[in-house]
Amino acid sequence: AKKAGRGQYRFFDQSLNVTDVEEFHLEQAFTESLRNRDFLLHYQPQVCLDSMEVIGYEALVRWQHPSFGLLYPDKFIPLSEKTGFVVKLGMEVLRLACVQISEWQQMLGVSKPIAVNVSPIQLSQPDFCANVLTMLSDMGLNPDLLELEITETAMLESRAVETLHRLKQAGIRLSLDDFGTGYAGFAHLEAVPVDKLKIDRSLINRISNSHDDSPIVSSTIILARRMAIQVVAEGVETHDQLVHLKVAGCHIAQGYFLGRPMPAEKILDFERAFTEK
Ligand code: C2E
Ligand code: CA
Ligand code: CA
Ligand code: CA
Repeated sequence: AKKAGRGQYRFFDQSLNVTDVEEFHLEQAFTESLRNRDFLLHYQPQVCLDSMEVIGYEALVRWQHPSFGLLYPDKFIPLSEKTGFVVKLGMEVLRLACVQISEWQQMLGVSKPIAVNVSPIQLSQPDFCANVLTMLSDMGLNPDLLELEITETAMLESRAVETLHRLKQAGIRLSLDDFGTGYAGFAHLEAVPVDKLKIDRSLINRISNSHDDSPIVSSTIILARRMAIQVVAEGVETHDQLVHLKVAGCHIAQGYFLGRPMPAEKILDFERAFTEK
């Protein structure tokens, strides 16, 4: 592990062996950055494979750290989950996404849905659903403009499942993230009312330009379609993968081949260039 300086915390310590003292400093840094609005969102386009139109964005959090520069979530989300800060951070992420939805609505007259990642720890908070709904109504936003991306682990807790039902009933869309990386597979989909299923990038990666027909991906698409669940492929990096997914019946794609996560200011130019392609 990297040795951290005086009063610093070790972001780059992969073992996450954070001591109490470090945890204290980290918590202070988190809180201060929240106050200074140092957390921001980048947006990655999601493209409908039928129309080849951008139909929405996934919000991905970044930390503009005063001394370390722009930090990616892998460097701080696990730590924020460990300290519990992810609950506050998660609300800030939701707030930023709602502000963005409302800005696009005012600027363009229409707004595209934004998908936000939700940690299992957030979902297990008893007031999570109420907080989300209050935020939406305070900002006058239609709940169907917000999509929550949840992971399989979140579904293991019965209170979380209850929360998901309430969110869904309120009109918020639910998306099951990182599909194919866990164990449960389709069993959970009967208990939880998800609208979308996102096939993890590790599975999409295996689609090559050869005649590999990646049976896991194609059978996932078939099963999801039979359950009336939309399929999103994440981590699409090549034209071949895109073609393969379209032929296999995948609805939506996301990945560097279509567009990288970008700051909100770049979205308008991106969409203009994308439609001209
Ligand atoms: P994820 O939800 O699976 O998000 C997709 C990640 O893959 C993003 O990394 C994205 O930039 C990256 N990606 C997208 N397209 C491609 C591609 O074509 N190739 C490759 N190699 N990568 C691609 P990012 O932004 O670093 O986020 C990493 C993870 O951090 C996310 O994985 C998500 O689990 C978590 N995360 C991000 N934002 C939030 C947040 O606001 N709250 C919580 N709780 N977790 C978040
Ligand atoms: Ca995600
Ligand atoms: Ca993933
Ligand atoms: Ca994830």
